[in-house]
Amino acid sequence: MSKKIKFNKCITCNKEFDTNLDTKPFCSKRCSYIDLNNWLDEKYLINTNEEDYERDF
Ligand SMILES: [Zn+2]
Repeated sequence: MSKKIKFNKCITCNKEFDTNLDTKPFCSKRCSYIDLNNWLDEKYLINTNEEDYERDF
């Protein structure tokens, strides 16, 4: 009987990690935040495409 451990590759840093982790598909919570931030950044960029704020200084 051999116990097979499956590994996934983190989609953020490409590091292999144990699939038993509940941070799938990321190796860590940090990586999931990085991915989320990237995603939000793209949305944010689209929303702030127009310069509708003014600087007083
Ligand atoms: Zn990672």
